[in-house]
Amino acid sequence: MLRSSKILAVDLDGTLTRGGEDEVKPWIRKALTSLREMGWKLILATGRDRRYIMRRWDLKNLFDAWVLEAGLAVYIPETGEYRCFADETWRSMIKKLARLPFIEEKENTISFNEKHLKTVRREVEIMGLKVVFKNNRGVIIILPPGVDKGFGLKEALKLLDVQGFVAAIGDSEIDQELLEVADFRAAVADGDPEVKRIADYVAKKKDGEGVMEVIDLLLSLELPLFFRLF
Ligand SMILES: [Mg+2]
Repeated sequence: MLRSSKILAVDLDGTLTRGGEDEVKPWIRKALTSLREMGWKLILATGRDRRYIMRRWDLKNLFDAWVLEAGLAVYIPETGEYRCFADETWRSMIKKLARLPFIEEKENTISFNEKHLKTVRREVEIMGLKVVFKNNRGVIIILPPGVDKGFGLKEALKLLDVQGFVAAIGDSEIDQELLEVADFRAAVADGDPEVKRIADYVAKKKDGEGVMEVIDLLLSLELPLFFRLF
């Protein structure tokens, strides 16, 4: 039976942190932890893969689910359940593309600088396969058609057996579908125009501080909002 909950899905790089190896600030970790204690389900929705997220101590015990590689895989830290939504044809294509010198290989897909888009597009066409190119602030990630962060979020909620009010926060074009499946859509101050355009709320602050601003807003809205929804 589906359990009803409040759900917050948040992107990592450029949203929860400044990106790269920047860590989640301790006070933000604390706020996310208390949100979970209040019954919220927290979902990380990132372009990174599981191997990378597992190495990040600052993300440990923070999330109920990880949506990885922009929706291509989902991991539930508590149970160790891992789902990847790619088939064998996909895997062999990724293996071939990974031979190109500028490719960064992830667990189930690849990414590369947008300046190589033409070259990769040509290679994929030669293989006769359909893929979607998603731009994450100058870095392209390739995905099977129909897979995106919104799809990954829905799969994560199925695995968690949870449904309810969904709030999502992002900064980049790649977060668009994540926001689209949410009931409340938020962007951080320096987000891409595409993501700000569809947001119900654009934070005044950047990255982690912008996320905190959104959490405060959600908590202040909570009573009237949940009386209406449930
Ligand atoms: Mg981002």
